[in-house]
Amino acid sequence: MSTVPARYEAVIGLEVHAQLLTKTKQFCSCPTTFGAEPNTAVCPVCLGLPGALPVLNREAVAMGVRTALALDCRVNERSVFARKNYFYPDLPKGYQISQFDLPFSEHGKLEIPDGAGGAKTVGITRIHFEEDAGKNLHGVTEAAGRSVVDLNRAGTPLIEIVGEPDLRSADDAVAYLKRLREILVALEVNDGNLEEGSFRCDVNISVRPTGSTQFGTRVEVKNVNSFRNVHKAIEHEIARLSGLADAGETFKQHTRQWDDEGQRTVFLRIKEGSDDYRYFPEPDLPPLILDRPWVDALAKTVPELPDARRRRLTSALGLTAYDAEVLTAHPKIGDFFESVLAAHPSDPAWAKRAANFVMTEVLAEAQAHGLTVTFPVTPRQIVEVLDLVTAGTISGKQAKELYGFIKGSSASPTEVAKEKGMAQVSDAAVLEQLCQKVVDENPKQAQAYRGGKTGTIGFFVGQVMKLTQGSANPALVNDLLKKVLG
Ligand code: ADP
Ligand code: MG
Ligand code: ZN
Repeated sequence: MSTVPARYEAVIGLEVHAQLLTKTKQFCSCPTTFGAEPNTAVCPVCLGLPGALPVLNREAVAMGVRTALALDCRVNERSVFARKNYFYPDLPKGYQISQFDLPFSEHGKLEIPDGAGGAKTVGITRIHFEEDAGKNLHGVTEAAGRSVVDLNRAGTPLIEIVGEPDLRSADDAVAYLKRLREILVALEVNDGNLEEGSFRCDVNISVRPTGSTQFGTRVEVKNVNSFRNVHKAIEHEIARLSGLADAGETFKQHTRQWDDEGQRTVFLRIKEGSDDYRYFPEPDLPPLILDRPWVDALAKTVPELPDARRRRLTSALGLTAYDAEVLTAHPKIGDFFESVLAAHPSDPAWAKRAANFVMTEVLAEAQAHGLTVTFPVTPRQIVEVLDLVTAGTISGKQAKELYGFIKGSSASPTEVAKEKGMAQVSDAAVLEQLCQKVVDENPKQAQAYRGGKTGTIGFFVGQVMKLTQGSANPALVNDLLKKVLG
C-alpha cells in the first residue's frame, strides 16, 4: 500500500548507525555502560584533551568485520580513518573520527521480502567505523532550565551502514531495517534498540516520474526512532515531494526531522556537503590493516543467519513461511523453538505442533530486551506438555490448561497434570510400581485375596487411586493388581 500517485516513483536509501556492543569505547578503555552518572565514563581521550592519543579497539573492529561478512561485503585489507570536522557542544574534539574515502568494507547486499512472496536484493554501498558523540541534556537535574552535556557516550563505537537507493516504498524501507536489525542482533554486535538510539537510521527520499532512470533531489529525514515512524515519515515525504513535483516546484537538498506530535516532517537545515566537513586522514591513527587469516577466522564465527534459519525451518521441516518468520523474529526465540524441536528432530508433525504451541502460548508472554528474551517456561517443560499430547494422555485443550498451571514456575508438567487429575495416567510401568507398593504395604489384604476373597481387589484399586489422586486408569490398575497379586 502506498500513497504515491502512479505518475511518481519513490527512491529511498537508508543510512544506519549501529552502536557496537563492545565493553569499551572505540579509541580508549572507558566502559560503554549506559545509565551511569553523567561524565563518569570519560578520560582524556574521549574528552578530547590535548595530547591524548586514540588506540583502536580490536573488539569493535572484529564486530564490524563480522557484520560486513554477514552482509556479503568485501572487506578491504587497508582502510583509513578520517577526521570529520564540525562544531557541536556534544563533540569535545571538534571532530569525529570516521572513515571517508577508504572505508573498511564495501559492495554488500541484503535480501528483503518484496511483499508478494518473493525477495529482492538491496545493495549495501559501504560500512565504515565511527565514534558516537555525547548527549546534550535539556532541562534535567539541578540544571533545570539550562542545558548540560553528558560525554559518557562520546567515543562509543559505531558502524555506519550505507544502503544503495534500491528501496521503492515505505514497506521496502521497513523490511530492510527489520532484516538488517535481525542480522546485527543475531551477530550479537548490536541490541537493535531504535527507541534508545542504539540502532538509528537516516532516511533519504526522492521522487521521480515513473519510468525515469534519473534520481530526483533527495531530502534526508534524521533519526526516526521507530519502524512505525519510519513508515509514516516516508509516506508523508512521498506525498509531499509528489505535490511539489506536481506544482513544478524545486528545492535544495536538505535535512528534515520527523515531528511525532504533528505527524509530519519539518525542515531542519540545508544539507552539508562533504566539503563542509573538511575531511582529512586522521594523523593519530595508522591505516587499518585487516589481514586475510584474521578475517577468515572471523568468518567462522558468523552464526547461521535468520534467512538461512527460516529456509531450513520451511524446507526441511515444512513450516509455513509465516511460522518461520515469527519463530525467528529474535535469535533467542529461534533457539527456544529449536530446543523444543530437538526432542523429536526431523518429525514434521512434531515441528508443526511445537510451532503452534510456542507461537500461540509461549510467545504471548515472552519479553525481549535487546539481545535477551525471557520466557515464562523452559523448552523442556514445553516438550513434556507436548509429549503428553502426543501420547494421548491429555488433549490439546488440556495442554493449554496445563500450560496455564506451569508457566512462571519450574513445575514438571507431568506431575502437575497428575495432581490436577487432568488425565488418566496410563503408564503401565508407573502404575505397576504403585500396585506393588500397595500390595507390599497391605500383606493381610493380599493374603485374603490369595485365599480366595477376590473382592478385596476393590480395596487395592482404591489405594492406588488415592496414591495417584484419582488420575490412574482404573481398568489398567485392576489388570495390574491381578498380575501383582498373582
Ligand atoms: P550523506 O552522508 O551525505 O547523506 P551518504 O553517501 O552517506 O551521504 O548517504 C547517502 C544515502 O542517500 C544513501 O543511503 C543513498 O542510498 C541515498 N541516496 C542517494 N541519492 C538518493 C536519491 N536521489 N534519492 C534517495 N536516496 C538517495
Ligand atoms: Mg546522510
Ligand atoms: Zn575515554
